Amino acid sequence: MDIKIDREFLVECFRDFVNTPSPVSYYDEIIPVLEQYGEKFGYPVTYDRKRTGYITLDGEDNSKTVMVGAHMDTLGLMVRRIDADGSIRVRALGGVSFQSIEGETVTIHTRSGKKYTGLMVCQSHSTHVFDDARSLERDENTMMISLDEKVESREDVRALGIEHGDIISFEPHCTVTENGYVKSRFIDDKMAVAAVFAALKFMTEQGLKPKYRTLLSFPFYEEINHGGAYIPKEVEEFVAVDIGLIGPDYNGHERAVSICVKDNFSPYDRGLTDKIIREAKANGIDHAIDIFYRYGTDANAAVRAGNNVYAAAFGMACYCSHGMERTHLDGVVETAKLVVAYLMGWDGQ
Ligand SMILES: [Zn+2]
Repeated sequence: MDIKIDREFLVECFRDFVNTPSPVSYYDEIIPVLEQYGEKFGYPVTYDRKRTGYITLDGEDNSKTVMVGAHMDTLGLMVRRIDADGSIRVRALGGVSFQSIEGETVTIHTRSGKKYTGLMVCQSHSTHVFDDARSLERDENTMMISLDEKVESREDVRALGIEHGDIISFEPHCTVTENGYVKSRFIDDKMAVAAVFAALKFMTEQGLKPKYRTLLSFPFYEEINHGGAYIPKEVEEFVAVDIGLIGPDYNGHERAVSICVKDNFSPYDRGLTDKIIREAKANGIDHAIDIFYRYGTDANAAVRAGNNVYAAAFGMACYCSHGMERTHLDGVVETAKLVVAYLMGWDGQ
């Protein structure tokens, strides 16, 4: 069967998720968006105690359960301290590249639900003023937030309701070119979320039931390596849909889906990975096979945590990951097709 993925839906879905902030652990704003997308296809979303969201699909054979996961969390920051002059120091949530967020507009989300924007700057913020403005290393100790508010002291900032531990998100700046390139922060992993929903849309419209009972999961802690630490005990296979990498060691490129054979922790299950490669081949899906270096997914997090599960991972290759990222819609379409092929068990055998 020809797997047809709706590109317009993919872009719309990606925009809806990427424009809703969800740094690690901050699920408040994006859960309603997830529930809206579940409702579109007639599915409620259920949750475990890590706040991982699940959509459950009936299978042809419900005696076995498989899971496809796309993490909902992104990189972000937390308020570490408020300095005497009212500037805000931060800690990273996940592998933040501070160079890439210098000059970025950030939003502080207070516990009482207020939002304040600010400018992410280096403490040596101007070449006109500081000798080391170009050379000072950008990290947690040199980067800070200058609020877009009239604040001159720690007390002024606290009076706004900003407190240590408040969540900080940054602007995604999503743009899609006419020829299909998507440039945005957080393609990792909101584009995988969009690919999973595009696969669900195709299957729903075609009246296709997955081969086995299926959980679509959306965890909130992947960027700090424990999103997949808990999985429901009935899950026999966990396939993480997460970004592929691009670089000197890699076959992957922006127009294909990358199948990850090994990450920085462990090889993925050999049999399940073989099956996914067969499914890519049997359905004419443009794919690359790679091993990933400074990288992990929730599927291997599940293995590391001791779950009795077969793990695998694939996803659209993403250029400049954890910075201003780029991929191509062709690669996302191939990813969504591979989700369908995997869920249907279409491996040509
Ligand atoms: Zn990711």
